[in-house]
Amino acid sequence: MPKHSPSSLDPRAPLVLDTRDLPRRPGALRTVKRVVPAPADLGVEMISVPEGADLDLDLRLESVSEGVLVSGTVSGPVRGECGRCLREIDDSLTVNVQELYAYENSTTDETTDEDEVGRMQDDLIDLEPALRDAVVLTLPTNPLCREDCPGLCPECGVHWDDLPADHSHQQIDPRWAGLSQLNRTEE
Ligand SMILES: [Zn+2]
Ligand SMILES: [Zn+2]
Repeated sequence: MPKHSPSSLDPRAPLVLDTRDLPRRPGALRTVKRVVPAPADLGVEMISVPEGADLDLDLRLESVSEGVLVSGTVSGPVRGECGRCLREIDDSLTVNVQELYAYENSTTDETTDEDEVGRMQDDLIDLEPALRDAVVLTLPTNPLCREDCPGLCPECGVHWDDLPADHSHQQIDPRWAGLSQLNRTEE
């Protein structure tokens, strides 16, 4: 019984690597340098690579005895929101990728789990899952516009940067409390 369903990878997909011109002889090397559009949802909730943005692949494909080792870097822009002040973050990201993809029906294929070692489908490698993992691990779950971002005043929601140093909210005089209640319902 074949362990694999027939290849569902499209060799022309941006993040599919075609190894047909890489000899299956340990030590054989190919480099892949290309710019591809980023897939959707590449990142975490607060910060991610915009869909369709240029991803720069700078990869080395090396034949090893049981498969192909892919290593190198992928870089691209990231956009998000500061977790403290919600200001826009415009940054860039470079992740290191290093992943072994086992040949179908190799010993590695037979003896390891697919989440331990990647799998080739015929001569094709789907880089996307490894890239997603690397990007998610690299991006902060709580990104900041700058490391010491002071955030927003919890009372008025204005950025502390834009408030005078002595900014504070006086306790409302109890005699005015009713009025401030009225204002609130008008909002
Ligand atoms: Zn901020
Ligand atoms: Zn305030």
